Parts: sequence; structure tokens; C-alpha cells
Amino acid sequence: MWTNYHTHSNYCDGKESPAIYLNDPAICSLGFSSHAPLPFDCKWCMPSKKLEAYFTEIAALKQSSPIEIYCGLEVDFIPGLISPKDFTQADYTIGSIHFVEQFENTPWEIDGLHTTFTEGLDKIFKNYYRAAWCRYFELTRQMLIESQPDVLGHLDKMKIQNLGNKYFHENESWYQQEIRSLLKVASQTNTIIEINTRGIYQQKSETTYPSPWILELMKTLNIRVTISSDAHHPKDLCNQFELAASLLLKAGYKKITILKDGVWKEVNFNENGIGSS
Ligand SMILES: [Zn+2]
Ligand SMILES: [Zn+2]
Repeated sequence: MWTNYHTHSNYCDGKESPAIYLNDPAICSLGFSSHAPLPFDCKWCMPSKKLEAYFTEIAALKQSSPIEIYCGLEVDFIPGLISPKDFTQADYTIGSIHFVEQFENTPWEIDGLHTTFTEGLDKIFKNYYRAAWCRYFELTRQMLIESQPDVLGHLDKMKIQNLGNKYFHENESWYQQEIRSLLKVASQTNTIIEINTRGIYQQKSETTYPSPWILELMKTLNIRVTISSDAHHPKDLCNQFELAASLLLKAGYKKITILKDGVWKEVNFNENGIGSS
């Protein structure tokens, strides 16, 4: 059996209604994490007018479902505009950075089209890619300190723009230092970090978010982890979970973190799923 707390239904850019996600017999605890509404046009977010219905529908599912259900939100951190602490009504929050700075009065989306990425890189950072990546990680640290979510979402997702090492290799010292600085803050704030498999099954990334070498650093700091697929369709609820589990085991992890009776708790796991604590 598995748990998954990073899932998107048709309240945002996912497919199918939340109830359909409950039909996967491999899932014993499920969290919905629609993209929280943003105060500007965004095609993949939940519109703010749907927020109340989202909480109502998932509250009803909790009553009827034999498995544990949670109503979370994946929330952006854009200083002065939106942050995880704006959504205290959710059971939990995943804090994710999808935007860095802005150009032409629009927040720059760093995990969308590569053409959008290169345009922002040029207009905001004059193609100084290290500055863009450093700002991404700086914002992530700031979010953990100022508006800590329960879970840090896809920690290094901006790497989808670096496929084939277009800009740099992850073993470069400046990049490793950025990751170390971020993990230090995650450790100090006791933030859970997800290992997210979506990049692999979407073939946008060769590895999980975060990369396996980062999982090893996380383990040395005893940072708690949760396995998630960022599913936008019920068929992807456990996609690549065996791989994620094997990478965590290889990094030295013996426990993953799940929600049990509303509390984050560490339990044993292996490539086949979770066991008893
Ligand atoms: Zn995301
Ligand atoms: Zn997501």
C-alpha cells in the first residue's frame, strides 16, 4: 500500500473528479493538493470561486471513504502576493516555487514552456543563468523561513530547463552549495521534503525531484521525506513509486512520512509500499 499527498483533480489542471481518485486499491491514505488560486491569470490554478466547493466536496468524501482523505493545497510563494500561510483552512500545504520575479508585469513561470523560460532568463537575468537559479533557491529558503508549508514541493524542478546539462552540471560547486544552503534551512525548520516522480513519467526529467544525490544529503540531515507523484490523472497515483522507494533506500532512508489521523508520522517502507511503524 502507498500514500500520496500531491495530487491534482479537475478543480485545477488535473483530470477526473476527486471521487475517481479513491478507486486505486494501492492507496491507503490520499491527499488532494489542487493549485491554490493565484491573484492573476493562471490556466493551471483553481479559480478562487471554486475554493469553497473544493473544501466541501473533499469533506464529504472524507465521510464516505474507507481510506484516510486529506484536503491540502499546493501553494505558490510569491512575496507580497501569495504564500502557504494564506491557506490555513487546508489540512496541509505543499509549498512550491513555480514563479521567479516577473517581466512585462507577469510573474515568470520557470517550469512551463522552455521558450517562456529563455525569454525570462534574457529579460530578467540578462541570460546569467546562475543568478536565475540562485534566486529560485533563495525564494525557496525564504518561503520555508517566512511561510513554512508542511511539505516542500519538487525542490529542484527548475532543472527541467537544464535537460542535457544545457546550462550547467549539477556537480558544479555553486549549485551544490545552493542545495546545501536550502537543505540546511529545511532541516532547521523541520520541513518535510517530497520525492516527486512526475518528471520521470512525463519524461521531462531523467531523475526524481530532487535528484538522487540530494536525497543522500537530506538523509545526512535527517530530513523527513514523503513519496508523491504529483498525479494529474488517477492512473498516475503510484507511478514510479517503486523507483522512488528504491532511491530513498539507497540514500539510507528507512522511514517515510505519512499522515495518520491528521498527524505526520514516520513509518517503515520498502519498494512494495509502507509497513507498520
Ligand atoms: Zn508544482
Ligand atoms: Zn503539483
